[in-house]
Amino acid sequence: MPDITIDVSMKDRVMKHLASQYRDESARTGTHVSDLIVCLRRPFLMREYFPDWDSKTLLRFTLGRAFEKVVHEELLLNSNVLLNVEQELEVTHDEEDGTPVLEGHIDIGADPLDVETKFTMKSEDANDPDELFAGNWYWLEQAMTYAVMRRRRSMMFWVFFATRWGLDFVPYLVKWNNSELADHWRVMMARKKYVEGHRILGTLPEKTEHKWACNGCPVYKVCYMDDSRRGKRTRVEETTNSVRGKRRV
Ligand code: SF4
Repeated sequence: MPDITIDVSMKDRVMKHLASQYRDESARTGTHVSDLIVCLRRPFLMREYFPDWDSKTLLRFTLGRAFEKVVHEELLLNSNVLLNVEQELEVTHDEEDGTPVLEGHIDIGADPLDVETKFTMKSEDANDPDELFAGNWYWLEQAMTYAVMRRRRSMMFWVFFATRWGLDFVPYLVKWNNSELADHWRVMMARKKYVEGHRILGTLPEKTEHKWACNGCPVYKVCYMDDSRRGKRTRVEETTNSVRGKRRV
């Protein structure tokens, strides 16, 4: 056998490079669609402590983005169905007087259908869309919000499966009726009002009821710290190894 070693320093350099690519996401200022889905507390802590993502999450993001890029190129170059294709389409929703309400990014904006790309490693049955989307209800919440912002009633999902059964890719078309979209928008606006109240008071929203989201959450330790300790910058930095970033000042 040849002499084979693991190049730890090269791995560190690559991971640092990947981390630098995702750091800006916690620096946004307006209310992003994703701020109102699954955990309303996490965006507050992400903005304050801007932690590094762990390596597994970074690699998952990277695979997801690679898939999105391939889908985008395929749609852009080969589609005769979708027009005006744009990767990471920025969308905003404002009041009539111009006051910003929500902002977000659709993976691939296009006419007449937008496309969200998803990458999943969970062992899910690609041939059972009802079960797949019931288990990933937050995909639908995000997409319904974008549908309202785009004044549309449908969206495509291109899902890449990397599961114990192997690799697969399946496109799904999802359609909603007006009443489903209107109900969902009311929920999103209620959540926005709730987080804005906390922003004004300088307090944190409640922890999410979806406890699975806390596994691997980059602000887990600071989130579960009691309030008096979290408020002191030096104590937070001394005691929170997983929050490797510095608190914003
Ligand atoms: S640890 Fe859980 S409750 Fe706290 S911010 Fe993260 S996801 Fe939300």
